[in-house]
Amino acid sequence: MKCVICHGEDIQVQDIREELKVKNDIVYVQIHIPVCRTCGERYYDRRTIRYLEDIERKLKQEKGKLKEVGKILVYT
Ligand SMILES: [Zn+2]
Repeated sequence: MKCVICHGEDIQVQDIREELKVKNDIVYVQIHIPVCRTCGERYYDRRTIRYLEDIERKLKQEKGKLKEVGKILVYT
């Protein structure tokens, strides 16, 4: 498999954190997908996209269980 962006061949399946935005909050979801190690392009398969959409829907309905791991602060 070659990267469609940089044509590099160094693509490896990795655990990454996808960011989902829910109102003013950011929720990290751990997913396991191929990532180009040269340019950072992420290759989502259909199952992963569906999984993320499902989580997003649950979060909007405030059904997901979340654990606070830190804060995002804005300097004013
Ligand atoms: Zn690439």
